[in-house]
Amino acid sequence: MTSAQQYRAAYFVHDRKFELAECTLSAPAADDVTVDIAYCGICGTDLHIFHGAMPHRLGDRRVLGHEVSGIVSATGDQVNSVRVGDPVAIRPLAPCNNCPACKSGHSHICHNLAFLGIDTDGGFAEKWTVPANTIHKLPASLSLREAALVEPLAVACHNVERGQVKPGEDVLVIGGGPIGLLVAMAARAAGGKVTVSEINPGRLAVIQSIGFDTIDPANQDVAGTINDITGSKGADVVFEVSGSQAGVDCMTEVAAVRGRIVMVAIHPEPPKIDLFRFFWRELELFGARVYEPQNYDQAISLLESGDIATDTMITDEAPLSDIQKAFDALEGSTTAMKSLITINPG
Ligand SMILES: [Zn+2]
Ligand SMILES: [Zn+2]
Repeated sequence: MTSAQQYRAAYFVHDRKFELAECTLSAPAADDVTVDIAYCGICGTDLHIFHGAMPHRLGDRRVLGHEVSGIVSATGDQVNSVRVGDPVAIRPLAPCNNCPACKSGHSHICHNLAFLGIDTDGGFAEKWTVPANTIHKLPASLSLREAALVEPLAVACHNVERGQVKPGEDVLVIGGGPIGLLVAMAARAAGGKVTVSEINPGRLAVIQSIGFDTIDPANQDVAGTINDITGSKGADVVFEVSGSQAGVDCMTEVAAVRGRIVMVAIHPEPPKIDLFRFFWRELELFGARVYEPQNYDQAISLLESGDIATDTMITDEAPLSDIQKAFDALEGSTTAMKSLITINPG
């Protein structure tokens, strides 16, 4: 038994405010692991919560953050899978293991899924204690800074897996924000010929800088351009990442015969979908939510391979004491991709 230790955590206390607090660490339970957090990325979901979404899931205050990398600093008595000193990422899902989804092998979309760092305290803290089955060991060759991208890249890998992207297929990603760009890079790594449609000029330049063809829907006809590129076939796989009605209109318009459309964005309102195109071209629509363990493994090897433009992705870094400023700065930023909170980079 180790004695109690103090550590700092950033609590979100609603109304767009964070408060730093000293917490007391207790020894991990038998199946738990304590991780000294190196980096924790700010997710789009954290930003939605910052803006007032899902208050009922947070209680009076909550340590947010789930895109972490770090070093194991303590393990429970039953834990054999990792050791103190191991570099790790955390897959922040706690399924019930008892519902129809869990029993059919889809525990990542458990009916009663708890998301660590939203339904429980998370990773904007010096230490985070989590169940051992959420831990993925990192190779020594991967920096902890880059490894902060494992969680969002695992989302992208799950999307690409759902869309079954094959080498040589024409792929359109609608929306080139942080997740759209990771989807584009994961689809390219799977062999897809990827075009990204994005409306923001600042982002367009970034996307072009890492070698993607782009379409600006404000000034170009997306479907016409895709038809030109593909000899009027259309895109074999379309990822809707924009979360806009215009994106949903576009996704059915550009899809090839028997094209696959993956719904990546979480739309604030149920969008109107042109079902006629589903009949006409025998399209398929795929839902995709979070990730499965293998998507973490894929994300880790993709980062290791160097196929992910991590320096382009990571646009902002701030220490834990500046978390308020880091969230405030994302307000209306058109250039930010991934903003990291640097906690204990080692
Ligand atoms: Zn996230
Ligand atoms: Zn379940």
